[in-house]
Amino acid sequence: MWIYLNDRFVKEEEAVVSVFDHGFLYGDGVYETIRSYGSRIFMRDQHLARLRRSADAIGLTIPIPEQRWPALLHESMVRNTIGNPQQDAYLRITVSRGAGGIGLDPALCRTPTVVIMAKPLHPPSPEQYRTGVKLVVARTRRNLPSAISPQIKATNFLNNILAKREAIAAGAFDSILLNWESHLTECTVSNLFFVQAGRLCTPALACGLLDGITRDIVLNLAREAQIPIDEGYFGIEAIHNADECFLTNTSMEVMPVTMVDGNPVGNGTPGLLTQQLHKRFIANRERFLEP
Ligand code: PLP
Repeated sequence: MWIYLNDRFVKEEEAVVSVFDHGFLYGDGVYETIRSYGSRIFMRDQHLARLRRSADAIGLTIPIPEQRWPALLHESMVRNTIGNPQQDAYLRITVSRGAGGIGLDPALCRTPTVVIMAKPLHPPSPEQYRTGVKLVVARTRRNLPSAISPQIKATNFLNNILAKREAIAAGAFDSILLNWESHLTECTVSNLFFVQAGRLCTPALACGLLDGITRDIVLNLAREAQIPIDEGYFGIEAIHNADECFLTNTSMEVMPVTMVDGNPVGNGTPGLLTQQLHKRFIANRERFLEP
């Protein structure tokens, strides 16, 4: 794999970061995961804007001018012979505080570390879309926004990793995280939706969750289709009483959920509105790709 590291492309073996990097020592950094359909990057500018927002939120200046990113992302795909009609790409940008002495002061680090990785995208299997996936509700609560905002896509991902460990231990696809008030938030790498009596429901951003780019697209597609939407505060009983449930993120698009905590959601098969929204997503995808 060719990796972009700081100012040039290097082979995977040479892509080495200092043990003094504050990303390694303290999880002090931000990241984005992006994908392509063929050679065209999905919601490129929105992902780059969120990277910048995350960096701004932690006072980190990204040392790459905005206008260089598109070419760097494309070169990452081309060098790795992905991002073509045969193979969609998965791209990960990481920007950490950089190497510096031990201590929390960001000023110890002179230059941020920038990494771009590009590998083949492995979407979920057709079987998973056909049967839907199982979730559990994690005991781990989502980070309190006033402590560390879930809107910062930070390289410190322990909150989500602890919830993912719970899912793995339970043999589930993923965990739903509740917030400090027992309201639904999101899953470890995706946003959560459910359908109740024909209304599309999703936790409000104020519950403490990442403002997913796919979440936003799905909400807009639902508005266009005049599907009533409730963005609000919901407890776990809302999922237990839901007719349908699904997850969204950049690589899964819309993934049906058919079981939560061992109980079937609705009739235990992917819901009609879920499938309709996924079809709309696919039919409208062109609108969300770079030119
Ligand atoms: N929530 C979390 C915690 C995530 O890490 C992600 C994506 O990685 C999402 C939601 C979905 O975001 P997006 O649709 O922008 O991929």
